[in-house]
Amino acid sequence: MSLEKFSQETVLSVHRWTNNLFSFTMTRPAHFKFSAGQFARIGIMVGEELVVRAYSVVSSPFDETLEFFSIVVPDGAFTSNLQHLQVGDQLYLEKVAYGYLTLARYQKPLPQDLWLLATGTGLAPFLSMLQDFETWKSYQQIRLVYSVRTSAELAYVDRIQDIYDTFAEGHSDFKFIPVITREPDAQLHERLPVLIANGELERVAELKMDVNTTHVMLCGNPEMVEDTKEALKAKGLIMNRRGEGNISVENYW
Ligand code: NAP
Repeated sequence: MSLEKFSQETVLSVHRWTNNLFSFTMTRPAHFKFSAGQFARIGIMVGEELVVRAYSVVSSPFDETLEFFSIVVPDGAFTSNLQHLQVGDQLYLEKVAYGYLTLARYQKPLPQDLWLLATGTGLAPFLSMLQDFETWKSYQQIRLVYSVRTSAELAYVDRIQDIYDTFAEGHSDFKFIPVITREPDAQLHERLPVLIANGELERVAELKMDVNTTHVMLCGNPEMVEDTKEALKAKGLIMNRRGEGNISVENYW
């Protein structure tokens, strides 16, 4: 892989949520432009080889630094190295951003209800979108649904409140809905496709999914994305193609 496509950036902070979940921030070069929801390609040198992985940006496009949210993949060449990251370390950042999970892709129906459904580190692109005043102005109802295995994995909960306080400007119809699949006492503990099929998610969200009003974005575990897509289609929602339709998705690995 040609190093010319990359700039070298410095790690500014590292936050560890659990043994296998962490976030980090790094310097942002002036040339690195992105839309909320896009991903960056980050590289580390493993021996002589540059190993690169895609990471959705947590930060807003207006921030001066870049933040990312990562899981440690057991025996993964990349994250096994990345987990030892320290302030001052150097990372490679590809100069351009990628991805189509952006709100600009929705033309029809017009923005009204926005559902952001994430599992695990798939939360990242949604945090970026919610740090944009425009998102809050465009949508009357916003639901952020975050499915994790255990409550310890519910990262960013305080930040979600901070983001709401900073960006929502009095928006009165937002709900953050955690789903904790391995804790039977949690209010919602079944997988997203089940909660969609049995109507439980809509009940807790106090909002119906409707082909004429809903925009729904999925990001995270590829099997979740696949299964949830089918559950949404069974409710009459359609995949977004060339700007039209309700559902847009990003697989996370
Ligand atoms: P995960 O297995 O993705 O689980 C997170 C949430 O997604 C849980 O609530 C889980 O429910 C739910 N889920 C899983 N499969 C689903 C499906 N088919 N439909 C609906 N919901 C589903 O856990 P994770 O800790 O975020 O990631 C797990 C593994 O994914 C990691 O250990 C790693 O190997 C891999 N991973 C790889 C990369 C990469 O870049 N290569 C990145 C992230 C993750 P349940 O509790 O019911 O399973």
